[in-house]
Amino acid sequence: MQRGMHVDRDVIVVGAGIAGLSVAIWARRLGLSVAVLEAGNKAGGELLALPMPLTDYPGVVATTGPALAAVLEQQARAIGAELWLERRVIRVAAASRTCVTDGGAVTGRALVLATGLSPRRLGVPGEDDLFRHGLVRRPSAEPGWFKGKRVAVIGGGDRAAENALMLARAGAGAVILVHRRPELRARERFERPLRAEQNVSLLLDSQVRSFTIRGSEATVDLMQAGAERQLPVDAVCTYIGNVPNTQLVQGQAALTDEGYLVTSAAGESSVPSVYGAGDICTPPESQSLIGSAGQAAAVAKRIALQLE
Ligand SMILES: Cc1cc2nc3c(=O)[nH]c(=O)nc-3n(C[C@H](O)[C@H](O)[C@H](O)COP(=O)(O)OP(=O)(O)OC[C@H]3O[C@@H](n4cnc5c(N)ncnc54)[C@H](O)[C@@H]3O)c2cc1C
Repeated sequence: MQRGMHVDRDVIVVGAGIAGLSVAIWARRLGLSVAVLEAGNKAGGELLALPMPLTDYPGVVATTGPALAAVLEQQARAIGAELWLERRVIRVAAASRTCVTDGGAVTGRALVLATGLSPRRLGVPGEDDLFRHGLVRRPSAEPGWFKGKRVAVIGGGDRAAENALMLARAGAGAVILVHRRPELRARERFERPLRAEQNVSLLLDSQVRSFTIRGSEATVDLMQAGAERQLPVDAVCTYIGNVPNTQLVQGQAALTDEGYLVTSAAGESSVPSVYGAGDICTPPESQSLIGSAGQAAAVAKRIALQLE
């Protein structure tokens, strides 16, 4: 897409994670023209943050998330899907199925939202600065970076405990798990080995109040059992849940109380010809790679029928 142009296609997909790429592959296979708009500079979405071999994607073994993303991208492009990277959609007019990016607008006969999730924010002072200074990091994406570093892991569920354990075993200097409740919510299979690691400490009953940045370091200001405490760290990893990226259609399409796009089994939203696929319309307990790909196939088939 050239900047400033207005483009029309049968199907416009927002988001090039596994759901968006799978919609593109299926739509092309069904003879539809399709363009995918992706905010990032790489296709793959969450797949890019899964560096370990995938063990639960049927028929695919011994491949990592980034490797699967590369194959999906190649497959989509080879079959004629257009993939536009670094094209963040900043506004959607759902009724006319038009997406506005900072480089122009695109309209589809059908529009598919596959924008996934974003980590929930704590909403405390200094958090934006933490992101701006690159002090919020993802262990799964860059485990080597953490060697010898002092890291605060915030959250008390499985994901927090699993990542804290991974950091401890990857050679982090100190891993401090900060949780607001007196007990972890993580399952025994994560909590027990975590407590056995020498370089892990648990700060329970601890509420993060704010973050302060000093050079390349952050200080986590917290309240532990009624007493103020400062924790200097090299990085912060937060695992306090995710929120669906549905802001683009807020007030236009029906959303659940948690903000997920409400869709039928075929991915239809409450707005005619606007669909959802992947995590954006899937409750946390059902989110998966294979589920996202499956939904994408159902969506593309329904669109093909609709446009016939
Ligand atoms: C740590 C972790 C581990 C996981 N492990 C597994 C596992 O082992 N097995 C499994 O089956 N599932 C696993 N999952 C779940 C699985 O990764 C997801 O269900 C799946 O990747 C969701 O794909 P998606 O395409 O819906 O969303 P995403 O992969 O999040 O893709 C959304 C895309 O939309 C783009 N986007 C967002 N907003 C805009 C915008 N405004 N304009 C343009 N583009 C935009 C994003 O940049 C992103 O590329 C895991 C998830 C996490 C977080």
